[in-house]
Amino acid sequence: MADPKKPALGDVIEIRCRFCRLNLDANVSALGPDGGIVKVQCRTCRHFQDFKAPRPIEDQRAALIRKVMKIAERHTQGTSNRSTPAATTTGSLSAEAVAKALWDEATKDANPLKSKIYDPHRAFGVDDLIHHKGRGLGVVREADDVSILVLFREGFVRLPHDEPRDE
Ligand SMILES: [Zn+2]
Repeated sequence: MADPKKPALGDVIEIRCRFCRLNLDANVSALGPDGGIVKVQCRTCRHFQDFKAPRPIEDQRAALIRKVMKIAERHTQGTSNRSTPAATTTGSLSAEAVAKALWDEATKDANPLKSKIYDPHRAFGVDDLIHHKGRGLGVVREADDVSILVLFREGFVRLPHDEPRDE
């Protein structure tokens, strides 16, 4: 007589991770006598903690964008030096984890069929969904006359755009 709505140990649920400070997936790791979720383990940072419901998406989005843009600034300084696999961390949270979380959020309602194929000769604008051969789906977060900052699943990448065709 298993209740399908009752959580079970090991179930993957969405939580507010107090270490990552993000809404993230976690495994249920302890249940109370009433069958409610008591303890969870964040799947990103692996910390065990008391269960806390995810924060509403609006707050989360604003906080995430602030945090990730800060990290992105650091990441994109010196992108000309391709030999440094940047392992920037803020506390226990890696930039990659933040970028991934933001990417998930930015692309979850996106229609991949509406993405534009990346081409350095095309011009892109903020919030454009682009498809990059090799990097996959990305969302344009910043755009200036010569470059765009794109959030891919792997993190932020600055790419040239609107380049004149030499013909
Ligand atoms: Zn965490």
